[in-house]
Amino acid sequence: MQPAPPGPRAGLRALAAPFLEALFPLRCPLCGAADEGAGLGCAEHEPRLFRPPSACGRCSRALPAVLPDGQLCPECRRDPPAFERLVALGAYAGDPGLREWLLAFKHGGRRDLAEQLGALLAARWRDAAGPGEGALLVPVPLHARRRFERGYDQARLLAGVVSEHSGVPCAALLARTRPTAPQGSPLAPARADNVRGAFRLRWRAERRCAGRALWLVDDVCTSGATLQACAELLREAGAGFVGALVLARAESARRGGDSA
Ligand SMILES: [Zn+2]
Ligand SMILES: [Zn+2]
Repeated sequence: MQPAPPGPRAGLRALAAPFLEALFPLRCPLCGAADEGAGLGCAEHEPRLFRPPSACGRCSRALPAVLPDGQLCPECRRDPPAFERLVALGAYAGDPGLREWLLAFKHGGRRDLAEQLGALLAARWRDAAGPGEGALLVPVPLHARRRFERGYDQARLLAGVVSEHSGVPCAALLARTRPTAPQGSPLAPARADNVRGAFRLRWRAERRCAGRALWLVDDVCTSGATLQACAELLREAGAGFVGALVLARAESARRGGDSA
């Protein structure tokens, strides 16, 4: 099929772009300062989206540069997580720009940031692994109480945007049975205890899991306990493959707190 020739409107748009840019220069979505870069924020807030040259093929934790990319880290070799692949947009540590975006997205009421963050995550996913045949995106569920407090469910928003960009459908296969203590809370018990039993499969989810590639979607992965609990459920339900997409991962994997 021949590609459609650009219509007169496309020509007009191309002509108008420099004028529009002069009238409405790109602004940093976080502070409103002029954005001289790639449209991802001012010099202070632009995420670096750094990917280490060598990273674990399973949990994506940075490896010493002398080790080949994709090799398993010692922790994944000793005790492999229930998910087979983790794709992260960046690291939480050493990327203050990304951290600011995440804080605004998750705690600052900026649900609109899901658009850019989701588009970037979809692009990183495409480069890193790709979804696989018949894949589904499964947002890590938020408890209803927290959804009410926040006004939106950040993982679900993100999964929706990744779905738009990748063409992979979303399926809410999991539910949260109780809220878990927020990250860094002094009341939070050890992470694994905190999330144990906090999730369940939705009714008839097994029918959609069997033999499929399922990709969990969450904003951050800190200890990995949340992803681990969700991936275990999907595996028990017969998933053929479980991967995870997150905006940021903490380098000190399996320690500290996850998202709530
Ligand atoms: Zn800024
Ligand atoms: Zn690893």
